[in-house]
Amino acid sequence: MSSSGLLPPPLIGVLAVQGDVREHIRVLEGLGTRVEAVRRPRELDGIRGLVIPGGESTTMDKLVRALELFEPLRALIAAGLPVYGSCAGMIMLADRIADCRADQQTLGGLDITVRRNAFGRQVDSFEEDIDMLGLDTPVHAVFIRAPWVEDIGADVEVLARVAGGPAAGRIVAVRQGHLLATSFHPEVTGDTRVHELFVEMVRERS
Ligand code: GLN
Repeated sequence: MSSSGLLPPPLIGVLAVQGDVREHIRVLEGLGTRVEAVRRPRELDGIRGLVIPGGESTTMDKLVRALELFEPLRALIAAGLPVYGSCAGMIMLADRIADCRADQQTLGGLDITVRRNAFGRQVDSFEEDIDMLGLDTPVHAVFIRAPWVEDIGADVEVLARVAGGPAAGRIVAVRQGHLLATSFHPEVTGDTRVHELFVEMVRERS
């Protein structure tokens, strides 16, 4: 890591109620950060950033409430905690879900509308190299029953769109200030640049 300088490594939480928690922990530790798996409100103490992994957003939503993490997480997001959401994590950060079940809620914070399982049954899961703002070579993006971003507010920056096929042009990575989200799963590819971008956001904020 080029930018770590002499600063102590930041403590980054990974929401660990459901989904591909371990993969994110491995990538973050590989980048020299300290990592806390978050299952209880007190495990939020002292974190400087949070990753919400992919998984199943309806289940994650229920568990976050049952474990009394919903209100503390919303408060931290509102207070400016840097958060990176991947896939289901993007859904958890979205202010709005298109056509969702009436009982599904999100943490919110990102002024976007997401559509769950947006790429349809035929192309449920696929991989594609896509250009991402700020990276000089394409990212190999793995999509697993992924959402896309259907609509964005004025303060949301589009970082990546699908390049080809029927979904060409669909938005799959965004940033709004301290919040970063991707429809895809960089934690499974060995390419750590999206996580590096997030760690950089955490360091800037700390
Ligand atoms: N389809 C899942 C959902 O709606 C997201 C899939 C994923 O995170 N890989 O939550």
